[in-house]
Amino acid sequence: PDTHPAPGFVRRRTATGRATSYRVGVSILWFRRDLRLDDHPALVAAVADGAPVVPLYVLDDALWPAASANRRSHLARSLAALDDATGGRLVVRRGDPREVVPALAREVGASEVHVSAGHEPAGRRRDRDVAARLAELDVRLVATGSPYAVSPGRVRTGGGTPYQVFTPFRRAWLDHGWRAPAPRPEVTWADVRSDGLPAVPATSADLPEAGEAAALARWREFLDDGLAGYGEARDRADLDGTSMLSVHLKWGEIHARTLLADLAAAQADGAPADDVATFRSELAWREFHADVLHHHPEASSESLRAVVPDDAWADGPDADAAFEAWARGRTGYPFVDAGMRQLLATGWMHNRVRMVVASFLVKDLHLPWQRGAAHFMAHLVDGDVPQNQLNWQWVAGTGRDAAPYFRVFNPVAQGLRFDPDGDYVRRWVPELRALRGKAVHEPWKHRADDAPDDLFAAADRSVEDDDPGPRRDADGSPASGPRHPDPYPAPIVDHAHERRVALDDFHRARGSA
Ligand code: FAD
Repeated sequence: PDTHPAPGFVRRRTATGRATSYRVGVSILWFRRDLRLDDHPALVAAVADGAPVVPLYVLDDALWPAASANRRSHLARSLAALDDATGGRLVVRRGDPREVVPALAREVGASEVHVSAGHEPAGRRRDRDVAARLAELDVRLVATGSPYAVSPGRVRTGGGTPYQVFTPFRRAWLDHGWRAPAPRPEVTWADVRSDGLPAVPATSADLPEAGEAAALARWREFLDDGLAGYGEARDRADLDGTSMLSVHLKWGEIHARTLLADLAAAQADGAPADDVATFRSELAWREFHADVLHHHPEASSESLRAVVPDDAWADGPDADAAFEAWARGRTGYPFVDAGMRQLLATGWMHNRVRMVVASFLVKDLHLPWQRGAAHFMAHLVDGDVPQNQLNWQWVAGTGRDAAPYFRVFNPVAQGLRFDPDGDYVRRWVPELRALRGKAVHEPWKHRADDAPDDLFAAADRSVEDDDPGPRRDADGSPASGPRHPDPYPAPIVDHAHERRVALDDFHRARGSA
């Protein structure tokens, strides 16, 4: 007897004990933030009965046009990679998932729609609506796995309450443990009409490669060359000392479970335990923020704790001008400006610098963290609601487990410490390239009358020496416009003064509490 049923059939015993092949329906795997085939529990669940699988991605008209060009570019390229990986069978449909998913289920006669669970507030609402509409058609929405090693909401104190603070959360998260990566199953992809892959939007940023293969390649490279020494190098803005995996984790092109399993294997193979522990701890922050947002969906827009009076955060035309200077990288604080320009140029910013620029917006410019968070979301390729909003709240001091409000980052001291030779600033702020070494962090000192003249003189000569002749535009015609359209600005605020204002606001809030 044939014990291997054909694809689309499953072998079961009848009531009388006879083995028979039954036709099983098609199932749909609705991809969202899980754009991979390896270590994909929902995919494993979708093929469990040998059913052919329709790989679906819904371009939600309410979200797609609003997303930043950087994120749309990454998504479009990642979908193209997923289409390749499924033999060109990826079904892209446009519209509201509440309409599109039930319509496709009816069209292909699916009995189940499989997903990785969504945990963000809007995703949870959408999934509830889709499940209800599918139920009317007798189709189940089955959620298996999540974008995290441990699903948000699972890690709890002995008393069953959520953790408020990171360190005990991390301990409990480690004790909870996670499943081993799921092996990639054999899949029969169903052939169903697609609306076609989205075009890759033009963006001026220099973006990383997208897709599962690119994510795995980046991860292997980091395991080989970056993990040893990560603990030290990760804070240095001038070194490429971090994994650059955030965008791949954001889209689920690689799963945290895979990373955690590989880290354990690397350590068994001799990778330094401290570096492994530090990297694991960064992943734990990602899981902690998802857990906090799970319990406090309002944290995506509201401060979890009020730490300053309502009138402390600035508003009005001056505030707009200050915000613009910050967003364009023209505050006159080189480390801040380098970070903001790295964001505009690449859609990514080093974590240390993210903290410094966020602190500058909130505590030096006295602008609400939500405004900075929105600018980040508009440009980051890894822009992710739980990570972005809760890191902003951490810096602002409004989060559950946050930096104390009175700890104000000094943008110069941070630059001198985490970009000790000034290379990071020179890379992103070309107007300052003339300044050598760490002098680049305090350009005002070197412009003062008593500054050594030869600093600028030597620098000017080096610009002349490098001059390749008349500048040309891309089409070969002589370039128009001045070579240095805007000289580097003087600091727009005095850090020492603004720090005192921020602390006064803080004390006022405490006094009135
Ligand atoms: P690595 O140092 O290689 O870390 C490995 C992974 O650990 C990261 O990919 C990330 O998933 C996780 N991780 C590292 N640091 C953090 C952290 N502080 N919080 C949570 N997870 C972390 N990260 C995002 O993924 N999306 C965001 O929108 C985002 N916004 C941020 C906003 C601010 C104001 C700040 C201070 C941080 C933000 N982060 C965000 C966290 C962090 O800056 C990035 O995850 C990190 O810089 C990504 O680079 P990497 O992958 O090379 O990091």
